[in-house]
Amino acid sequence: MKKSMMAFLLLCLALSLAACGGNEPAGENSAPVSIVTTVFPAYDFARQIAGERAEVTLLVPPGAESHSFEPTARDMIRVQECTLFFCNGGESEAWVEDLLAQQPVETLRMLDCVEALEEEEKEGMQELHEEHGEEEEGPEYDEHVWTSPVNAQRICEALCDRLCALDPEGESLYRANLERYREDLQLLDAAFRKTVDEGAHRTVVFADRFPVRYFVEEYGLEYFAAFPGCADDTEPAARTVAFLIDRVRQEKLPAVFYIEFSNEKMADVVCEDTGCRKLLFHSCHNVSAADLENGVTYLQLMWGNVSALKEALG
Ligand SMILES: [Zn+2]
Repeated sequence: MKKSMMAFLLLCLALSLAACGGNEPAGENSAPVSIVTTVFPAYDFARQIAGERAEVTLLVPPGAESHSFEPTARDMIRVQECTLFFCNGGESEAWVEDLLAQQPVETLRMLDCVEALEEEEKEGMQELHEEHGEEEEGPEYDEHVWTSPVNAQRICEALCDRLCALDPEGESLYRANLERYREDLQLLDAAFRKTVDEGAHRTVVFADRFPVRYFVEEYGLEYFAAFPGCADDTEPAARTVAFLIDRVRQEKLPAVFYIEFSNEKMADVVCEDTGCRKLLFHSCHNVSAADLENGVTYLQLMWGNVSALKEALG
């Protein structure tokens, strides 16, 4: 986000805070804690751990492209007024750091809860057109940390600790919710391990963007992918198509993956040529409005991935 835009939004924020006098009535929702989240996994983890003690808000709208999200003035007010701002951290959330530099709030970043991996440019991956313009400094971390269920546990533990510190009265509830949710995540983790152990293959091909590096690292899978996780250009190039087709043939893979909200072009081309199937692997980065409405969870989406992985590993 441009600096001038940020200054403008902060001005709006100051004006609207002044206008409402800073003490809005609590209204119907009298949850003692409010958590503002940026991406879907953070939203769902917050719901699971905080339960009824928190009003949880998701900033990135359902179905939206999370990498180019920019907050509205209203979003910024929400952040300023919340008990805990629970975000992802990393490159796509540069706006978060700009905002916090101006107006610090209690913040927890998922990226800080786990051992971060640097972004990897894998053999055969289509090169990125760097549109940011600015020279990147230091290592760029892959931000899709939640795609490993083991990381999800660590994130939820950190969230639970922070909530207990911020709202000691809720501690027993938070700890009980964490215990229950951790058991669910462990079952999921065990299912992925079993699937990989019993699979005929150890390689997965993502004929799409690849936002699941933490996932494949966790389960010792080799991977090939068309584009990096946060690529904004997903038009298939002949060389990338040829490389992936080659991998599918050599490994005799029964299926390739595409991810949610994909144009599926790359997967279609690879499938047409090799006769393999295309399967959805949901990165849980974002969900559709209908799914959100129906209360879809990280666990449901990831169990779908267990089935897809079973099929893909043969
Ligand atoms: Zn991403």
